[in-house]
Amino acid sequence: MNEHLKQLVDLSKIDKEIDAFEPQIDEANYKYEAVLAKKNNIDKDINELEEEIKANTLKKHKNELHLSELSQKLEENKKKSSTIKTEREMKSLQLEEEIAKEQINFANEEIERFDKIISTMRDKINELATAKDEIEQTLQTVKAEVDKKINSIDKERQVVFDKKEKLVSKINQKGLVFYQKIRRWAKNTTAVEVRDQACMGCFMLINDKVYADVIKGEDIVLCPHCGRILYMPEDEAIEA
Ligand SMILES: [Zn+2]
Repeated sequence: MNEHLKQLVDLSKIDKEIDAFEPQIDEANYKYEAVLAKKNNIDKDINELEEEIKANTLKKHKNELHLSELSQKLEENKKKSSTIKTEREMKSLQLEEEIAKEQINFANEEIERFDKIISTMRDKINELATAKDEIEQTLQTVKAEVDKKINSIDKERQVVFDKKEKLVSKINQKGLVFYQKIRRWAKNTTAVEVRDQACMGCFMLINDKVYADVIKGEDIVLCPHCGRILYMPEDEAIEA
């Protein structure tokens, strides 16, 4: 095989190797992000509950205010009752008092109801906080695992990067530009094998003349259909 062709074929293989690291890194990161998402969801739930507690505390407080107003009113009525002259005034005062007492009962019930709601929410927050503690521990373990994994991937990748750098330094600028133009659209199938006289990039048959050139391997031959760089795999090259 022509040296320039061999370089481009090798470069294509190395680039493919480099790209293969990406999904490994994504997978490792995904593990961590999945646990992180769980933790964030718990944080969100806790925040929502805290907001609801605030709203319910406010409602409770309103009832407490109302309650103190009502007690004040009862107090005033008591004072008034000593100055009452007519039965009509007396009845009116009694009616007011009854209404106030009913309202007091209602306000007390409401306060009790809000207390229960708030207490249930606090329990729920405590449960969530415990779950969050556990997840934070898991998160640390997963982070350590992921860091280790990514570290080892980085090391492996560096070896391939070095290999690429060494190869690229040998390829002439023209050949490199040529290769990169194809790679821009063909990605990891920039240089493809020819099998059974077909381009393994676009799977179209190539004519006898092009096929013969590919077998010879003296020049860089492009697929006449798709423009990828063609080469013979070693096993077929021997057969041919
Ligand atoms: Zn093709």
